[in-house]
Amino acid sequence: MRANYGYKDGSGEYFITIQTDACADCAGHPCVAACPQNAFEIIEDDYDDRVAAITEDLRHKLKYACAPCKPVSDPPPLPCVEACPGNAIEHSW
Ligand code: SF4
Ligand code: SF4
Repeated sequence: MRANYGYKDGSGEYFITIQTDACADCAGHPCVAACPQNAFEIIEDDYDDRVAAITEDLRHKLKYACAPCKPVSDPPPLPCVEACPGNAIEHSW
């Protein structure tokens, strides 16, 4: 399942999409430790699988929370995307 977390405002769309099928088989859920803003948490979904989600608090401020990971010039790979063995994390911006 694709789970979308984020929002739109006048400046754009700021969504993180998590392909939760990959999370059920993910050892250690490394996205949680990789994110310097503690954006990820592990929850139990409707199928009793443990999957990654974005914390309630950060769902409404992703543009600002992720800004340090996304410098305008020469952005490095994102820590969350790099850490994910399932290639399950996408950012809309
Ligand atoms: S690292 Fe990737 S596959 Fe593993 S729990 Fe996090 S988002 Fe899911
Ligand atoms: S871009 Fe950075 S702050 Fe945003 S979710 Fe990924 S690791 Fe966390």
